[in-house]
Amino acid sequence: MDNFSFSLPETSLLFGKGTLGQVGERAKRHGSHALLVTGKGSMKKLGFLQKAEKSLKDAGLKVTVFEGVEPNPTADTVNRGMKLGRDKGCDVVVAIGGGSAIDAAKAMAVGIGHADEDIWPYVVREKETTNRTLPVVAIPSTSGTGSHVTWYTVITNSKGEKVAYSSKFIYPKESIVDLGIVSAMPQGVTAETGFDALAHVMESYLSAGASPVTDLLCLRAMELIAQNLPRAYADGKDMDARYNMALADTYAGMCITPSRTIMVHAMGNVVSGIYPHISHGRALACLTGPVMRFNIEKGDEKIIARYCDVARALGEDVEDIDKETALKSVDGVLKLLRAVDIGTSMKNCGAKESDVERLTDYAIRYGAGAMGCNPVKASRKEVIQIYKESF
Ligand code: NDP
Ligand code: MN
Repeated sequence: MDNFSFSLPETSLLFGKGTLGQVGERAKRHGSHALLVTGKGSMKKLGFLQKAEKSLKDAGLKVTVFEGVEPNPTADTVNRGMKLGRDKGCDVVVAIGGGSAIDAAKAMAVGIGHADEDIWPYVVREKETTNRTLPVVAIPSTSGTGSHVTWYTVITNSKGEKVAYSSKFIYPKESIVDLGIVSAMPQGVTAETGFDALAHVMESYLSAGASPVTDLLCLRAMELIAQNLPRAYADGKDMDARYNMALADTYAGMCITPSRTIMVHAMGNVVSGIYPHISHGRALACLTGPVMRFNIEKGDEKIIARYCDVARALGEDVEDIDKETALKSVDGVLKLLRAVDIGTSMKNCGAKESDVERLTDYAIRYGAGAMGCNPVKASRKEVIQIYKESF
């Protein structure tokens, strides 16, 4: 019977089929000139960017479009968007795309609102993020990061330092999940982003910040992902599977703000910082097994019991509560990864073992929050060992 706290952010969620058409009415609640932010081209190719622009204009808003946010968005890209938004007088930021476009848009909202030119001092908390931040409307095109309902934005600088930064002022004010958009994801993106959502809930469930409220969402999301990710991967038009993945992604986003993630994300985030071609989901896939084994090996009874719950939620047979049964959670994860063709070797992703020391330093420095929530404390030497295992 542990004490806990849980807060409900001011995000209005609209979820279902054909919801994109309501972006204009929703954005109008918050501003009159939208900076419409998107990725490198998928939303335009599929016609969703144009639909969003039309809905905004039909509702009477002016629209300035910023295209070209790259996966694992950089501070330079954010700074360019901030300049455009400031020059044009935008007062609301609308993101349509994956976690990268949404994160970049959140950071742009901070920079435009504070009339600043460089986002990095806010990311590393040298400057304070305040209520001058512009309101954000988020329309996710992936089911993975939960960014449409979290207070995080993850930004990388020119040195490859990738930092997750949070503020209560960057929660999206409006979040619009449209199943038509997420069902357009190609197989690889479906698999890798879907695994990110699974990592979020497995980590939140083990985090020192877990609470009864997030536990409920985490366990349900694990079941939903185990049952629906292989289906969404095999048949992108399976709308039940897409619905359940988008739901699980949203549950996961609702968990990682209050509970936080653990060592997997602390170590995984910095991988895509140093190697931008390694997607967030792939980096997590390489590290999840080694971190789980470490936590189970060193964990007390409570941690063992939690990993047994994870195994059960992933569909494994769980009769006893012991170390051997807890390790079935790793089997469950590996089976799922195989079903959606995601490899687990960092070497095969193109990472170099000679970078392990640098990865470790960055993870300890920039992932301190998530490291601190890991249920077992890890020394620098142990972090190095876990990275090595992921090769
Ligand atoms: P990205 O936004 O990086 O998108 C990955 C790729 O998928 C891009 O090439 C994109 O193309 C394409 N794509 C996205 N949606 C579709 C679609 N519906 N149809 C076709 N192609 C599509 O992926 P993620 O969503 O995984 O975001 C990853 C980022 O989010 C990382 O930087 C990660 O660290 C961060 N993150 C943020 C969290 C938060 O709470 N803020 C939590 C966890 C992770 P295109 O560019 O052309 O649109
Ligand atoms: Mn993540």
